[in-house]
Amino acid sequence: MNVLVINCGSSSLKYQLIDSETEAVLAKGLCERIGLDGRLVYQKAGCDKEITEVAMPTHKQAIQLVLDALVNPATGAIASLAEVGAVGHRLVHGAEKFTSSALVTDEMLAVVEECNDLAPLHNPANLIGVNACKELMPNVPMVAVYDTAFHQTMPSKAYLYGIPYEYYEKYRVRRYGFHGTSHSFVSKETADFLGMDYNNSKIIVAHLGNGASISAVLNGKCVDTSMGLTPLEGLIMGTRSGDIDPSIIEYIAKKENLDIAGVMNVLNKKSGVLGLSGISSDFRDLEDGHFAGDAHCTEVLEIFSYRVAKYIGAYVAAMNGVDAISFTAGVGENGPIVREMVLKYLGYLGIELDEEANNKRGFNNVISTADSKVKVCVIPTNEELAIARETVAIVGK
Ligand code: ADP
Repeated sequence: MNVLVINCGSSSLKYQLIDSETEAVLAKGLCERIGLDGRLVYQKAGCDKEITEVAMPTHKQAIQLVLDALVNPATGAIASLAEVGAVGHRLVHGAEKFTSSALVTDEMLAVVEECNDLAPLHNPANLIGVNACKELMPNVPMVAVYDTAFHQTMPSKAYLYGIPYEYYEKYRVRRYGFHGTSHSFVSKETADFLGMDYNNSKIIVAHLGNGASISAVLNGKCVDTSMGLTPLEGLIMGTRSGDIDPSIIEYIAKKENLDIAGVMNVLNKKSGVLGLSGISSDFRDLEDGHFAGDAHCTEVLEIFSYRVAKYIGAYVAAMNGVDAISFTAGVGENGPIVREMVLKYLGYLGIELDEEANNKRGFNNVISTADSKVKVCVIPTNEELAIARETVAIVGK
């Protein structure tokens, strides 16, 4: 069966058409600047990217353009839409309502809407994508795959904050965690790759991309993760601060004459490695600076890596040990310097870096030496494939 995977944001939409039997990507691409001038990127497997500037005032029109491209007689990947067996949608926040992926129904969508104020930037946009697909493909089954679902196994000691309990009872203020599809995929992939029993394993996954989070996966279940009520908590990220003393919010608001929204904008968009470096949120720019001898770029990479190492230490404690640590996502997969800086702190776990392996990329790989007690891996994440697998598991082959 072919599964169309949709990741719909407020002004962009990524898609992949995946043959679930072979797990091959038949076509992929994105719609950008929806509601503005519009740009469709389409790439059939084995062919060059096609980029078309085309008006797409609404998400529905954007998805229609994607469907037209998929069945285009000249360059399409399939002959007709009858060849799309199911659609898998990425949804960011399922709160406590969804502990696993779910078939899209009207009742289910009403429940997702109740979660909207927990993810006001993401969930409404995700839902627009779901509704547009439903209108265009009314008879095709659709599945919602939540970023938060994998983390719902966390115990309350990991997900409750030290604030009045009534805020949890009244408003469900707690740790939810994000990137769950990636943490689930990579932890399972790590166990398979290392020949371990997933149900009897202690794995730490460091998903280090523009957004970054880390999770402790004990016997195949998430027991802790660094992102919280929102994706702002935890590691230092491309533009997000990660953990800070909450008092900084009031202090900076007064000093800079900002309201809460203004400070939150700084913490979400102007902080992290962008704010620290004053140069860029992209780690490649910091690496370039580091190699050019810019001590401040080196310092920022150190600050980022130190936070990752501290979280790994915390999660070793949470699981009373660790069998494997996996790096994934843009920086985790492609940044040998950050990995080296992180592993420098982990000698106490009997970890030693294999420098040659650390400089390779693009495939599942062990980057610790053969005699390291804890295996350290680079495992490329594949959220689209994970969504396609979840979709098939729910709608059947
Ligand atoms: P997201 O999905 O959160 O946007 P990604 O997982 O795609 O993030 O990661 C994007 C980040 O990965 C980029 O901002 C960049 O810093 C980093 N990155 C990508 N390629 C490299 C590379 N070759 N070396 C170092 N960092 C890289």
